[in-house]
Amino acid sequence: MSIFSAPYFHDHEQVTHFQDRETGLRAIIAIHDTTLGPAGGGCRMYPYKSDDDALTDALRLSRAMTYKLAFIDSKFGGGKSVIIGDPKRDKTPALLRAFGRCVEHLGGRYTVGEDVGISVEDMEHIHQETDYCVGLAGKSGDTSPPTSYGVYRGILAAVKHKLGRDSVDGITVAIQGLGAVGFGLAEYLAKNGANLVVADIDQDAVTRAVDILGAKAVAPDKIIAATAEVLAPCALGGIIDDASVPQIKASIIAGAANNQLLEDSHAAALAQRGILFAPDYIINAGGALNASSEGPDYDKDAVYERISGIYDTLIEVFERADKEGISTVEVANQMAEERIESRRQSKNRC
Ligand code: NAD
Repeated sequence: MSIFSAPYFHDHEQVTHFQDRETGLRAIIAIHDTTLGPAGGGCRMYPYKSDDDALTDALRLSRAMTYKLAFIDSKFGGGKSVIIGDPKRDKTPALLRAFGRCVEHLGGRYTVGEDVGISVEDMEHIHQETDYCVGLAGKSGDTSPPTSYGVYRGILAAVKHKLGRDSVDGITVAIQGLGAVGFGLAEYLAKNGANLVVADIDQDAVTRAVDILGAKAVAPDKIIAATAEVLAPCALGGIIDDASVPQIKASIIAGAANNQLLEDSHAAALAQRGILFAPDYIINAGGALNASSEGPDYDKDAVYERISGIYDTLIEVFERADKEGISTVEVANQMAEERIESRRQSKNRC
């Protein structure tokens, strides 16, 4: 099968496969659209079941990055990279440096940050081989805390729109995944009076949330159908599918995970059930906003102020979806494409 006919190939500009025999590195860098600028996006390291799964993830994640970056008026276009392997077992400084050389090889067409399986410390190894990286310690830093804050602001917007409430006080939120972003989100929610139901495949993470935040734990396979007003997916993508849609009890889905819908069409299925879906690439844009603001003028307070604006952006999307009778994802995709098109036209005029 040619890349051009691969599922989820959305007119990507460049998809490059890399291998380094010495370190065992196998990686894919997908550049979706550089209208807004050279591509930017995180690197995910994951034990994919097959090369096709890795390619699919890279293609879907890089397209979502294009839309996410359009919403935050970024100087970057959309890209993403995946490293095939188990971060707990296969990640070595040498492998990360080999990956850094791959990024360097693209000569600035792609700038890398963190994603699942890649930490701020890992970025230092990558940085030894390339300057095309963001989210480094001592610069804009870890993208997870600003992402958690943005998701919290997004949940507030959804709660306002769907339930007419101005806070999460007394609201039950079911969180799937208590990693860097999910736990930070849980802290914001607990501090503001929400009740938490949580699940993670990592028992230590669950114990921490129960002990520190008073969360109620459920088994990982029970979280989708948990009784809650809000379901916050903060693990991996593809969890909203034909099987899960009928099980969901929450009236709002608003969480950090990228590509929560298995297919865009599942947004319509949620809308039909009256479930409000916060498009993931808008609600989880806090980290991207933080990383793309990195530079000599980086001002953390100003960045958090901008992340706060995720609230208004989502309210606009929700209202437009209601008015036009289409799903929130269709509205969000339209708005992102309008912004990219307008930038394309202004570039062509120059
Ligand atoms: P992470 O690896 O720190 O956390 C993910 C957590 O999910 C882990 O604790 C893991 O054990 C858990 N998990 C995995 N499978 C699970 C399952 N089936 N059920 C329950 N828990 C499960 O990752 P993160 O940085 O917190 O990111 C979480 C999600 O948010 C990812 O989809 C990521 O792409 C997205 N995201 C992250 C950022 C960021 O800045 N870190 C930004 C935007 C989007």
